[in-house]
Amino acid sequence: MTNPSLLILAGDGIGPEVMAEVRKIIDWYGAKRGVTFDVSEDLVGGCAYDKHGTPLHDDTMAKAQEVDAVLLGAVGGPKYDSLDFSVKPERGLLRLRKEMDLYANLRPAQCFDALADFSSLKKDVVAGLDIMIVRELTSGVYFGEPRGIFKEGNERVGINTQRYTESEIERVARSAFELARKRGNKLCSMEKANVMESGVLWREVVQRIGDTEYPDVELSHMYADAGAMQLTRWPKQFDVIVTDNLFGDLLSDLAAMLTGSLGMLPSASLGAPMANGRPKALYEPVHGSAPDIAGQGKANPIACILSFAMALRYSFDMGAEADRVEGAVAKVLADGLRTADLMGPEGGAPVSTGQMGDAIVTALDASL
Ligand code: NAD
Repeated sequence: MTNPSLLILAGDGIGPEVMAEVRKIIDWYGAKRGVTFDVSEDLVGGCAYDKHGTPLHDDTMAKAQEVDAVLLGAVGGPKYDSLDFSVKPERGLLRLRKEMDLYANLRPAQCFDALADFSSLKKDVVAGLDIMIVRELTSGVYFGEPRGIFKEGNERVGINTQRYTESEIERVARSAFELARKRGNKLCSMEKANVMESGVLWREVVQRIGDTEYPDVELSHMYADAGAMQLTRWPKQFDVIVTDNLFGDLLSDLAAMLTGSLGMLPSASLGAPMANGRPKALYEPVHGSAPDIAGQGKANPIACILSFAMALRYSFDMGAEADRVEGAVAKVLADGLRTADLMGPEGGAPVSTGQMGDAIVTALDASL
């Protein structure tokens, strides 16, 4: 058996700082669990531009296509704000997503008990929350043609087109059903079939895939606006939600913030299965490069560590190990450890990025 391979692209700003803490966990797996990852590292974003004049070198792109999973930190920063659009740091990330054809974006909204007070919602509404939003990522209104700003008579008109093919809906629906099977066996599909033809097709196709391939999964449908209301009213009614690119963009941000800080939120973007059966995969925290705190040891590494846990679960079939990492995170939070972004109004002494990583490693030791 070959070792699982991982390409680490730490990127800019706090990216390398939070990734250093993930490296501690990867090393822990080698030392304590006999699980060795073949790790390679490369550049993406502003640091790649500084070295190669492009935010993603072709060689890096080729490596990303070959490994079992890519783990990315964050890209961007004020130094690069005035660059031409074509070489901005974010273009490196977009190229990865596009060329790896990562069509299913997984955004968990999970509330650690110790942080339930941090939510803007009441504690009993969010405590223990654990839902997953699957957003279609490579089609829909962000990509449909025609698009642009055109002249019509003596005024201008801005046009974007919502467009979904049956096969695009089928593949993201399958990703969501598969996930539902690994979780609570419950899937809610959201669209606006009441006012959009693309929504009518979306609903039909998801229902057909459910009936024919996943009859064991409990499937429901909801209009996306009602879904937004239900997510804030009683989010625990959901397990997995599947939705299109635009609604998913909004609903995943909404759901994520039910649980507190940006420094806590992981994500995964999955594509078609490779020859070895594993999906093409990119894991990354939701947050950006946080230039306001970069280089100060203040960044919360948990979002990046939980992204690695998602890689264990979805790329490497190590669900029990993913549970172990999530359990270690829950333990340090329950013990009261907080990075600066998790400090409540009552104050206290925050721990550094490195101290948080070390504490999670100690909690992993304790889990053995
Ligand atoms: P940001 O996510 O970098 O920061 C927003 C706020 O959250 C800041 O106050 C920051 O200090 C805080 N924050 C973010 N992550 C944190 C963490 N792990 N621990 C503690 N605090 C954290 O978003 P922004 O300020 O809008 O963007 C900064 C740069 O990042 C820009 O160049 C932007 O383009 C880029 N960006 C990149 C990504 C990505 O790489 N996926 C995503 C969003 C923004």
